[in-house]
Amino acid sequence: MKSWIEISESRLRSNVSAIRAAAGEGANVLAVIKADGYGHGAELLAPVLVDAGVTWLGVADAEEGAQIRRALGQHDRTRASTRHSPGPPHDVRILVMCGIEPGDADRIVEKRLTPVVWTPGHVQALEAAAERARRRVAVHLEIDTGMARQGAVPESDGEPALERVVDALHRSKWLRMEGVFSHLSSSEVRHGHKTAAQLERLQRAFDLLKTEDGEVLLPEWIHVANSSALDEGSTTEWIHHIGAAMRAGVLVRPGLALYGYCLGLENENGGLLRPVTAPGGLCPQLQPVLTWKTHILATREIAPGQTVGYGATFIAERPMRLALLPVGYADGFRREASSSIGNGWVMVAGKRAAVVGRVSMNLTVVDVTEIAQASEGGEVTLLGEGVTAEDHARWCETISYEILCGIRAERRLV
Ligand SMILES: *Cc1c(COP(=O)(O)O)cnc(C)c1O
Repeated sequence: MKSWIEISESRLRSNVSAIRAAAGEGANVLAVIKADGYGHGAELLAPVLVDAGVTWLGVADAEEGAQIRRALGQHDRTRASTRHSPGPPHDVRILVMCGIEPGDADRIVEKRLTPVVWTPGHVQALEAAAERARRRVAVHLEIDTGMARQGAVPESDGEPALERVVDALHRSKWLRMEGVFSHLSSSEVRHGHKTAAQLERLQRAFDLLKTEDGEVLLPEWIHVANSSALDEGSTTEWIHHIGAAMRAGVLVRPGLALYGYCLGLENENGGLLRPVTAPGGLCPQLQPVLTWKTHILATREIAPGQTVGYGATFIAERPMRLALLPVGYADGFRREASSSIGNGWVMVAGKRAAVVGRVSMNLTVVDVTEIAQASEGGEVTLLGEGVTAEDHARWCETISYEILCGIRAERRLV
């Protein structure tokens, strides 16, 4: 095996507990495991999350949802009725968060997934599929409060987009508007005006959940918070307040926090208010769940003046000992970690070993001159203790999200 990912079950469980505490009394956690669990392996995570008492999972599309149903079904058969099991796995709700593609509706109904809808077209397609299957389907209505990606707009230049979909839901025989929610663009900003404006629009949308004859549609669940919103905290208070007034339950939708990462808290101007490790909020209570490891393929000594890798961008200034790793950008070890770009490193025997020259497609060279223990077959940490997804993200001028879901390696629970 060239490289592998170890997923810490105990850290995942501990992050779920920290998230529950931050979400506040009475809130339910919807664990976001889209994009194959942010690269952690959704099929590995789902049974652990369910066993930890999580009753809602979030995926991107119907295919991911079907895959999770299958994984949970198999898991349940292999463990029959263990004492931790909170119930049959079909009790677990799976929200399909990233739209409905043509042809998805039947699969959504068949696999008992919960779709996100925002147009009368979504309602019609699902209504037809639900009728074919003769099965009632709960749906969650998304409100666009400022992302302009998904969601019905509460009011835009006289376009009654939200009213139309609410009416379609009201007329539907087979669909039930179970949830209403929105997604925040800037939840990592403390008391940000963009978030305030989004919450105001969401409040107005709640007021518009009425039919033409004035009947009010009350959802069972409302939700808005992602990981950063839970860390920042003010939207959590707001949604609990609204939930109490509407007699709706509150869901929170953390993704990144489940995996032990978060964004730093920012001020309105993009300045860092609180680094991720500083006390306060949810972030410092989280622990990274993923460790990416490999073995040293070979070592060699080079003399001063020798060059390393494509473009010969690195020229040794002293005698060096190098270790060759069987991992490159094809595996998600990003080319920006090259010494000529981001100055990345890996961990060998608890010490930093700097990347030397350019990362290639399947190979990377690191400096082990000062690490006597480094030898052929020795274990190397590519991401984990001593080198985080945030470090990788800095080398690449991106965010930890993109690093985590870009890793391709075999995964196992530890
Ligand atoms: C991805 C996603 C989340 C999770 O966001 P994090 O920042 O990872 O916590 C929550 N809600 C929706 C709608 C999403 O698409």
